[in-house]
Amino acid sequence: MAQGKYSGVRESKPGRVNDLGTTGKQVEADFKKGCLKRADRSFAQGLQCQQINSMAALMSLEDSVFVSHSPQGCVGCAIMAVDMYRVGQAHRGVKNIKNPRLIVTNIDQKSVVFGGEQKLKDAVKKAVERYNPKLVFVYASCASGIIGDDIDAICAQLGKDYPDTIIVPIHCEGFKSKICASGFDAAFISINKYILKNQPVEKEEGLVNLFAPTTVSYADQKEMERMLSLLGAKVNYIPFYSSLEKIRKIPAAQASTSICKVFADEFMKTLWEDYQIPYSHTVMPIGIRNTDKWYRGIAKVIGKEELVEEIIAKEHLRIEPLVKQLRERLQGKRVFICGGTGRSFAAAALIDDFGMELVGLETPTYDEDAQVDIEYLNNIHKDFVVDIANMQPFEQVNLINKIKPDAFIGVPEWAAKLGIPTTHVLDGKRPTMGYDGLLYLGNKIADQLENPGFNKKLAKHVKLPYKDSWYEENAFKYIN
Ligand code: SF4
Repeated sequence: MAQGKYSGVRESKPGRVNDLGTTGKQVEADFKKGCLKRADRSFAQGLQCQQINSMAALMSLEDSVFVSHSPQGCVGCAIMAVDMYRVGQAHRGVKNIKNPRLIVTNIDQKSVVFGGEQKLKDAVKKAVERYNPKLVFVYASCASGIIGDDIDAICAQLGKDYPDTIIVPIHCEGFKSKICASGFDAAFISINKYILKNQPVEKEEGLVNLFAPTTVSYADQKEMERMLSLLGAKVNYIPFYSSLEKIRKIPAAQASTSICKVFADEFMKTLWEDYQIPYSHTVMPIGIRNTDKWYRGIAKVIGKEELVEEIIAKEHLRIEPLVKQLRERLQGKRVFICGGTGRSFAAAALIDDFGMELVGLETPTYDEDAQVDIEYLNNIHKDFVVDIANMQPFEQVNLINKIKPDAFIGVPEWAAKLGIPTTHVLDGKRPTMGYDGLLYLGNKIADQLENPGFNKKLAKHVKLPYKDSWYEENAFKYIN
């Protein structure tokens, strides 16, 4: 089983680095020579913690309670996943919108000295007695990991006391990894260990697991399901807005694929090892090139290679005139892109559809997969700045201030305050993927460029917390 082979810590994979300031051409050459070293920052502004990714991945599961064995502050950034969950329900037509059942054990100074196990036991007991859930997920944190509370043993014991509830410990201690996608792996390792348990399941002809992270909008879900159904596949959409029953169906599938490059990629390998389920791991389906690549990847695995070519040809006929119109609005505009590993590279490929020029790329990690993308991007763009950073907005504002792109695609808060037209690519609320998504996204980028007034006014009235001198400095001066 995967937990014996893969620790869930993304840094454990050789050749993966996560702190670097460079250019597209340089990083390609250095990776080829094996010269990239894992670095660190002598000053860092904050890091997205892997615990939030473990939570966000599962937060919309039906009949579940989420217990964070942590100080209260650790769940602060769950707010984004909660928002996604609420909006996702509205998009799915749910009338009485619910919050997730999220409980914090509130580890404090006393717990750090005397142990926090009793708090965890009490929290899980209350959760089961109050909600009678099918699933309880118990999330570790830095504090519970450091004091050594044995969450596995507690969950096992409580599982005996409450046999109708599956109690799943998840080892997502923040200090374990600087790559937040490790949190997805921690969640899937526990799903495999405590729910699937390598048990045989009857196969279902045509069933395809479609793994999707929280940030995929309902419109994108429908588009990906539409595309897979054209290939004759039935989709098991996992784990967002799914259930224990759908999780138990995972091993029944004929094949698996994921919408994101760093979501369930390790889990799909495990499913191949444990259940011989073949999988496709290609790119995120944003833009024509990546959508075609993603589609061909899964079609190959389920033996629909000829059919997919017919569908792709029809889709191109439908969208190419519309893409041409977008190109007329966007051609030659210079773009800075910032996003997660999957989306940043996918967005960089997308802008080629519209004839835009890549001038900067910020992404959390660099590895073999990223190298394939960079080789492609280096062939179509002039040299561009690359910032390998999990967060670190101070580097981003420095770069944007110097490069002065026409448009920014990605998490927009900081660039918007510099007056740059911004388009959110991590948008869990609107379409971005597949053939329909790329048209929507293209129109949104063009609309932003043609209507920059809001961000311009914002820049006039908001002062960023940096001294003017910082903008003169080398953006990467704190990377060791
Ligand atoms: S688990 Fe650790 S890194 Fe994550 S929010 Fe809590 S203290 Fe911060």
